[in-house]
Amino acid sequence: MPSSSPPTIVQVAVPTPLHGHFDYLPPAQGPLPPVGARVRVPFGRRRIVGLVVGHGQGSALPNARLKRIEAVLDETPLLDAPLLNLLRWAADYYHHPLGEVISAALPQTLRQGKLAIARGIERYHVTESGRTIAPDGLTRAPRQASVLRRLQANPEGITLEQLREGQDTDPRAALRALIDKGLVERHHRPCLEPPRDERPDAPALNAAQQAAISSITESLGGFTCHLLEGVTGSGKTEVYLHAIEQVLERGLQSLVLVPEIALTPQLLERFRQRLATPIAVLHSSLSDGERHCAWLSARSGEAGVIIGTRSAVFAPWARPGLIIVDEEHDASLKQQEGFRYHARDLAVMRGHREAVPVVLGSATPSLESLGNVERGQYRRIELPARAGGAVAPRLKVLDVRQQFMDEGLSTALLDAMQRHLDADGQVLLFLNRRGFSPALICHDCGWVADCHRCDARMTWHACARLLRCHHCGHETGLPARCPSCGSPLAPRGQGTERIEQALHKHFPQYPAIRIDRDSTRRKGSLESALAGVREGRYRILVGTQMLAKGHDFPNVTLAAILDADQGLFSVDFRAVERLAQTIIQVAGRSGRALRAGEVLIQTHQPDHPLLSSLLGGGYRAFARTALAERREATLPPYASLALLRAEAVDAQTPLAFLEQARDHLQTLSLPGIHPWGPAPAPMERRAGRYRAHLLLHAPRRQDLQRALGPWLTELARLPGARQVRWSIDVDPADLT
Ligand code: ADP
Ligand code: ZN
Ligand code: ZN
Repeated sequence: MPSSSPPTIVQVAVPTPLHGHFDYLPPAQGPLPPVGARVRVPFGRRRIVGLVVGHGQGSALPNARLKRIEAVLDETPLLDAPLLNLLRWAADYYHHPLGEVISAALPQTLRQGKLAIARGIERYHVTESGRTIAPDGLTRAPRQASVLRRLQANPEGITLEQLREGQDTDPRAALRALIDKGLVERHHRPCLEPPRDERPDAPALNAAQQAAISSITESLGGFTCHLLEGVTGSGKTEVYLHAIEQVLERGLQSLVLVPEIALTPQLLERFRQRLATPIAVLHSSLSDGERHCAWLSARSGEAGVIIGTRSAVFAPWARPGLIIVDEEHDASLKQQEGFRYHARDLAVMRGHREAVPVVLGSATPSLESLGNVERGQYRRIELPARAGGAVAPRLKVLDVRQQFMDEGLSTALLDAMQRHLDADGQVLLFLNRRGFSPALICHDCGWVADCHRCDARMTWHACARLLRCHHCGHETGLPARCPSCGSPLAPRGQGTERIEQALHKHFPQYPAIRIDRDSTRRKGSLESALAGVREGRYRILVGTQMLAKGHDFPNVTLAAILDADQGLFSVDFRAVERLAQTIIQVAGRSGRALRAGEVLIQTHQPDHPLLSSLLGGGYRAFARTALAERREATLPPYASLALLRAEAVDAQTPLAFLEQARDHLQTLSLPGIHPWGPAPAPMERRAGRYRAHLLLHAPRRQDLQRALGPWLTELARLPGARQVRWSIDVDPADLT
């Protein structure tokens, strides 16, 4: 067929777990839908919205079997070529179906086929007469009465979506009737808050900040990746704001990614106060209407700044200028289910493909990013000092071997707490997020159960009551006595709730609050807890990961890491890196104002080399030691990994499937790939299902990528595949 003849086939990606695109005949009438436009197509017995990803001259199927596109939803492409190509790249790299990848990039409204027009956010409010009328007067129209009551309770107006919440009937008919009666009015609020007229003065920049800003602005117009390293409070956000101003002056947009927990009203307010542009905000608790609006104003270029969490890395923009990833080491940038992408890595790839600079900011950069600095791929910029004159906290190890512990609190720690509380300070107690997979440690001498076949720690499995090596699968019972000092051994752990009780016993006069995922599940409860801390209503905070990030607690003068050992001996090789980051981040919460802070770390391993390097030389020294260990063990960033996970209702089935998968990999005889395992997952049982892992290790990324495609396409055909749920995770961030 000559290539000049007009295309006869439209290739459409649809959101299904099937890989590849589907061929359709062009619509019966009208022009061919362009690549990047949405179309409505028949799919099986349903009608769904797909995205045109290509045009073709022919199909593997005869034309008679092809179905026709029913409607074209966008006359011009909804996704431009660079964004669509980024999504294609991501689908290939993470081995995830393109249709689902595209779906992840679109707001719900557009996925469902709503027009790509932002009319602002429609709100309803009561008129003057609607405000005073008694709803009970509408006796024969109970629905109108109920809608009117809601509106009277919200005189500033509410959206249709809010009206629908918790309601099983559609409020629209009632609204129309109320509007006809002159009791209710509708108005449009623009999508984006207009920029403020007055802006506060920025602090005078120090020399390091000025150098950082010029380094970034000089690189505008092409791709460079900067790693902006500076402790909490060193003025990184100030650098972002100035760089963004320069980008705005050139008429370009900036895209800013932050971890979910860091996207606080305070941060947004700081951006709104300082920047003379409308800001599009994208995060998970927006209403569909708000997200629709924000997404389209990013796409049109109306928003000079787009700020959002992980999935905002796929936000569209009209005039690419600069990408910033704040807290680039943060684990929440990696999606942990479904399409398991890493937003930081995609941000760098996007900057590279769209020729804009990328700034990765952190007080504790990931070892991946430091590896890239080492290789000359990223440019490092440092902010050495704390900007506002705040004093850096002192870090100290508390050796808890042989010490009396009450629910994980040593006497030395209790004494220190008393001192700080009596001096009007606040105290923050930090517990690692995960209570499972602890190493078995002797409380008297610090002995740790090692696998005699591997260079690895054994993991205590409480339900099975045995020790297991997650590298080779070796299992043993619990030794009655410590082989090193003869003391009785008992695995132990403490939960945040038990600690809370112990605190009440020791410090009855000082109110304490627990902040973790369980205690803050209700909407708004985190905000009110944080406000209570800031106002000094609570004097002791106990919490997990959520406390370590982004929040400002100027009156915390003592921070303590209750159990560093779990991080030092986890099965996950990244646990030590996370522990070091946590210690530095927790330290960053204390002494942020002009009061010097103290940070205490409880451990049975006071001489652990990584802990010593962190305390002796700071994160920088730690990272050097940790990178050397990773290089030695050929672990990332000196190798690439992919994790094949499988789960089923019994323990054997996932392992059997993974063995078949490993054997199949070996028949492909691909160079440079090593299967590690299979083995039961460190947290073997979750939600009643048994989980197992097969880790693929490759010193060179290309080898891994070359192998994954051919291997994964065969996995579904393996005999064990039907009995398990399985998934692939490229560059896994979490091996538990
Ligand atoms: P980071 O993002 O690194 O935590 P911020 O930019 O938020 O740091 O700065 C921490 C605090 O110091 C903020 O209150 C900020 O206004 C202030 N600050 C930043 N730069 C300066 C400066 N050059 N002089 C004085 N104060 C500054
Ligand atoms: Zn011992
Ligand atoms: Zn072993």
